[in-house]
Amino acid sequence: MDTPIIILGSGLAGYHLAREIRQRDQDVPLCMLTRDAGHFYSKPMLSTAMGMGKEVDVLMSMPAEKMAQQYHMDIVTHTEVTSILPQENSLCVNSLHSGVSEVMNYRALILCIGAEPRIPVLEGNAQADVLSVNDVYQYQLFREKLVNKKQVVLLGAGLVGCEFANDLTRAGYAVDIVEPASTPLASLLPPEIGIELQRALERQGARWHCGRTAKSVDYNDDAYSVMLDDGSSISADIVFSAIGLSPRTGLAAQAGIYTERGICVNEYLQTNLPNIYAIGDCAEINHWILPYIAPIMHCSKALAASLLGELTPAAFPVMPVVIKTSAYPVVVCRPRNMSDTQWVIKKNNHDFRAELRHKDHQLVGFILTGEFTKERAELMSRTSVI
Ligand SMILES: Cc1cc2nc3c(=O)[nH]c(=O)nc-3n(C[C@H](O)[C@H](O)[C@H](O)COP(=O)(O)OP(=O)(O)OC[C@H]3O[C@@H](n4cnc5c(N)ncnc54)[C@H](O)[C@@H]3O)c2cc1C
Repeated sequence: MDTPIIILGSGLAGYHLAREIRQRDQDVPLCMLTRDAGHFYSKPMLSTAMGMGKEVDVLMSMPAEKMAQQYHMDIVTHTEVTSILPQENSLCVNSLHSGVSEVMNYRALILCIGAEPRIPVLEGNAQADVLSVNDVYQYQLFREKLVNKKQVVLLGAGLVGCEFANDLTRAGYAVDIVEPASTPLASLLPPEIGIELQRALERQGARWHCGRTAKSVDYNDDAYSVMLDDGSSISADIVFSAIGLSPRTGLAAQAGIYTERGICVNEYLQTNLPNIYAIGDCAEINHWILPYIAPIMHCSKALAASLLGELTPAAFPVMPVVIKTSAYPVVVCRPRNMSDTQWVIKKNNHDFRAELRHKDHQLVGFILTGEFTKERAELMSRTSVI
């Protein structure tokens, strides 16, 4: 067989790219390597599945073999790439089942290796028991641990933390949320909007500890005890961390690929080394990290074209993010550069329609909550990318 394009990672970035390549070319040799089992699944579903009554096996409905058939590519699962040898256009791969290592050649290598959950720094005897979820396999473990349990302490009220708080409370769990900022989603929402989300989740049963950080976690007498920085403590059956993700950069850095917060690529998704590219949560595109689905789709399309001979830059249109908190739905669309902008906020009962205006009055972003989320399409059509 001819030397393949190798896609490293079987998350949404890897599979979207495979689909885009196959839409353009049925024959180019394609191989996906992944250290997990290679199931295709929708990661955004992980934070809404319980409330929707969905079991984990339903989420993992497409196994690697089916995906391999569908995209006419080899998928090698439970295989970790341990190093990249850029001079030889090759990779060292290690089977996690057999322990056998081998070298594979690539014509192009696309790093779709995602991000790692950040580990909270905690004192106490139970730090290793703190769970986090950034893939369906970690989610499976989380669901197993939740069986016959009632109380969850959740660290972090960003997108993932708020969505899990919503889902867990919908499913009947008692949830305590510890968040250092004074309101949830503080990096995306002005405080007056964040507080409404906080209240809505509170009405659904969540208990908030804003402006607080967790200091220690201990396990004694069948329960965890999470101590906060004000000396108070919360008892729990499970401690769950959603304090953020760090792009996986180690493999690339070892090979001499430039990394900063993520793997550095230009608008063509190229790293500084020939024939090596990166997309998805691991990538930093012209110093911009975009850990969402819409950018993955735009990057996959552009990169597929480039790999097949039509050099195409990734272009990002208006890309709102939907926060899937059914207690208080939120849609946020923010530009990369917030300078010279200001929010013009309209409120109706608990719901907001906030328009972000540039100093020249152009609409460059928006936040919609509750009833106003219906206006998303209309606002998108009027928003300019700056
Ligand atoms: C709970 C949750 C809800 C979300 N909801 C939304 C949403 O509503 N909207 C939205 O836009 N975004 C959402 N996101 C973000 C979005 O899901 C991610 O941006 C996207 O799924 C990332 O895909 P990825 O392929 O880059 O990374 P991943 O899915 O993390 O895939 C990485 C892959 O690389 C493999 N890998 C890593 N290192 C190696 C190695 N050395 N060798 C071999 N294989 C390796 C892994 O096994 C894995 O297959 C959500 C995220 C989470 C966690």
